[in-house]
Amino acid sequence: MDKRIAVVTGANRGIGFEICRQLARHGGIRVVLTSRDGKKGETAARKLDVESHPLDVASERSVALFAGWLAGAHGRCDILINNAGILADPRGSRVLDSKLSTWRETLDTNLIGPLLMIHALVPLMKKGGYGRVVNVSSGQGQLSEMGVGTPAYRASKTALNALTRTLAAELSGSGILVNSMCPGWVRTDMGGASAPRTVEQGADTALWLATLPDNGPTGGFFRDRKPIPW
Ligand code: NAP
Repeated sequence: MDKRIAVVTGANRGIGFEICRQLARHGGIRVVLTSRDGKKGETAARKLDVESHPLDVASERSVALFAGWLAGAHGRCDILINNAGILADPRGSRVLDSKLSTWRETLDTNLIGPLLMIHALVPLMKKGGYGRVVNVSSGQGQLSEMGVGTPAYRASKTALNALTRTLAAELSGSGILVNSMCPGWVRTDMGGASAPRTVEQGADTALWLATLPDNGPTGGFFRDRKPIPW
């Protein structure tokens, strides 16, 4: 059988890069490491001996160009990891003092970005009758844990979880499984140096969801391979 094609967004550094490393090591999967800065993507991909391609998930044009390239180069997509994300809320920000520009930038990247990728790549999955969509969300998007601070980021991840559930329901029985995951608090540029988790720990659940068997879960939210509340 041909190798599965896995596309990972925002993969030049942090958790996305580690997801690529784990996918490449898994076997049977051909990884396409994407990065909004093509040069950074190439440098990162060289370290893993995988393919790279430029992709800015906040740009409709960039997503369309990428999807056209993928269809031509590989003609299929089996795994999509929507990992690219930003935390743009200033430290200590509150809803009442937040700027609209922060909300728009955050939602464009963390919600509309995954949506554009889904629009572009799920049709290829449907053609193959197989797919795994993994949305890298956050505990900060859990309504059950909702609290003060980073309001745009929190709302973007709650909305991403809603996208997971609606898409999973829509694709029920199609062979395409759609799930959200939280990596935990991870030591990356976003998580900062005090975070307790390594990127290896943060990426593990994404790898698991990306390689689920056909009878695996869909429409769920997971951390450490276990369901967590919405
Ligand atoms: P990170 O170190 O800040 O890396 C973020 C990645 O996303 C970078 O590669 C960045 O590219 C990319 N990116 C941002 N905007 C993009 C766009 N428009 N198009 C394409 N790529 C874009 O963050 P991380 O900690 O690895 O986070 C990865 C994911 O995990 C995010 O979705 C984040 O919300 C989630 N998460 C992280 C933590 C944590 O503790 N770290 C906790 C919960 C959830 P550039 O290098 O070009 O900026």
